[in-house]
Amino acid sequence: MNKNSLIIYPLFLLTAAIPSVVPAQSLVKEDSVQSNKYRETANQIVTTALKERKGYEALRNFCIIGPRLSGSRNSLIAINWVKNKMIESGLDTVWLQPVKVPHWERGNVEKAMILNSIKFNGRELNILALGGSIGTPTEGISANVIEVRSFEELEKRKDEAKSKIIFFSRPIDQSILNTFEAYSKAADQRVFGAIEGAKYGAVGVIVRSLTTKYDNVPHTGNMHYVDSLPKVPAVAVGYLDADFLSNAIKEDPNLKLKLNLDCQTLPDAQSYNVIGEIRGSEYPDEIIVVSGHLDSRDVGDGAHDDGAGSIQASEVLDIFNRLNIKPKRTIRAVLFINEENGSMGAKEYGVFADTSKQNHIAAIESDRGAFNPLGFNIDTDSIKLIKKIESWLPYLKLAGISWVRKGGSGSDISKIKNAKLQIGYVPVNQRYFDIHHSPSDVFEEVHPREFELGSAAMAILVYLLSEEGL
Ligand SMILES: [Zn+2]
Repeated sequence: MNKNSLIIYPLFLLTAAIPSVVPAQSLVKEDSVQSNKYRETANQIVTTALKERKGYEALRNFCIIGPRLSGSRNSLIAINWVKNKMIESGLDTVWLQPVKVPHWERGNVEKAMILNSIKFNGRELNILALGGSIGTPTEGISANVIEVRSFEELEKRKDEAKSKIIFFSRPIDQSILNTFEAYSKAADQRVFGAIEGAKYGAVGVIVRSLTTKYDNVPHTGNMHYVDSLPKVPAVAVGYLDADFLSNAIKEDPNLKLKLNLDCQTLPDAQSYNVIGEIRGSEYPDEIIVVSGHLDSRDVGDGAHDDGAGSIQASEVLDIFNRLNIKPKRTIRAVLFINEENGSMGAKEYGVFADTSKQNHIAAIESDRGAFNPLGFNIDTDSIKLIKKIESWLPYLKLAGISWVRKGGSGSDISKIKNAKLQIGYVPVNQRYFDIHHSPSDVFEEVHPREFELGSAAMAILVYLLSEEGL
């Protein structure tokens, strides 16, 4: 406590500290019965979510299952857990939609060690194999390392690349405000590094972790191979060890890096999307999807990515039941499997949406972490529909939503081509890539109020879509 905290402030100063509620209410026509009903319901949704924290407690239990990579035993446990939770919460219909998914396993051996160097011999680096990487022979591979910061630089130095391990070391650009944009500008190294390395005869790839935090926790993620080139093992290294490696090879260019990995790809596995719905009371054939992805990377709890989105989507329906709100239109929670390495769940649901000709008026996705609400990204060609959602800001603001804008909704719902609106929930993103795809993405990193406000924001949006339609 500092000295200032003992000062008793005049009341007007205290009320001025909570401005968001004031403009929200002033924008609503006071004389409208409907506006009053919407505002009252939106308020109830927010206060119930914040006070009861039922979604947050569900997320705690969900995270106890552990990481849920597609094809793993854990992912099937998580699928069953969510299905049973939906049945218990009294949804009208709950079902599993079968999907075949890739099945990759990290294995038990994962080691990177420096050899052939008087100064650094035996020094181990903190690494994680990239998802989908091949393993090494049992005796490992060892090779000299060349550091590059881009594919262009590798192309220029291609004559040096043969039989080497390529170290892609370009960090996320911290000067960019939107960390998703910063991440996407550095992610080519992780996703395509093994292909680019193999082009010039490299034997392995090590990539600086895509993180906004300067710690030594490695961040995994997806990568690709092509059939026309040899497959080489690929790993991510912790940010601090990336700095270490960069300095070490400057000091001792002859050092070698030895990689031992026993990760492997197994045959595709049977898995499922989990789907639950509340049937609409007036327009049951008009469907509003609210979604997240149930799978995660195979490290950490996948708490933010995307345990949070999955449980928020389920909680939207649960809040409706707890508040006894009977939606006019059908609300369907879809928890997709396999967003992380193939999007097979989204593709399967997309085909179902297409062939069944069900009328999806909107599909909402939460897959950007469980931080404080900011806005909604909307994909549609209709400016009129965006304006309509924008006109609901007075109610959405009660959960902290400040804006709606065109574009960038979400990867899973983009497969529901016949949805009139595809809507991505956007929370604050400054800390998301501190923990994304890493052992640090654990339940303890999720703040209950921030998480619950996300559920509430989506529940208000779903409520208004259900009341008004499009
Ligand atoms: Zn995700």
